[in-house]
Amino acid sequence: MALDKDCLFCRIIAGEIPSAKVYEDEYVYAFKDIEPIAPVHYLFVPKDHICCAKKITAENSAAVAKIFEAISKTAEAENIESFRVINNCGEDAGQSVMHLHFHMVAGKKMGWGEQSLG
Ligand code: 5GP
Ligand code: ZN
Repeated sequence: MALDKDCLFCRIIAGEIPSAKVYEDEYVYAFKDIEPIAPVHYLFVPKDHICCAKKITAENSAAVAKIFEAISKTAEAENIESFRVINNCGEDAGQSVMHLHFHMVAGKKMGWGEQSLG
């Protein structure tokens, strides 16, 4: 797996920084967000370092499919009926960690529209 030693999420995947794991397979690692915005707030990341959604290509996009499979399995395993998946790409969208990640948020009624995005 291609890990970046300066990347926070690569270091979490490598176990150098502790995290509360919720799911893991060959391609995907998922853990609880350290500052949850909802009762359920997990981060799903590819084990291979991809900086952001803008850098998804034909060569690496299988990781994204694996992430959505992992999200589906987690929802099934934890009986989560309704959830939102969020990806922030780039500074204006609020991406703060430059390793592709999908937020899985659940456990509360969520609004829609610009206001709900903060
Ligand atoms: P972004 O803002 O890039 O979309 O999301 C990054 C997320 O990573 C934030 O929700 C933030 O709370 C979370 N985060 C940042 N550092 C850590 C950490 O060290 N451990 C965990 N579990 N989450 C983190
Ligand atoms: Zn990384």
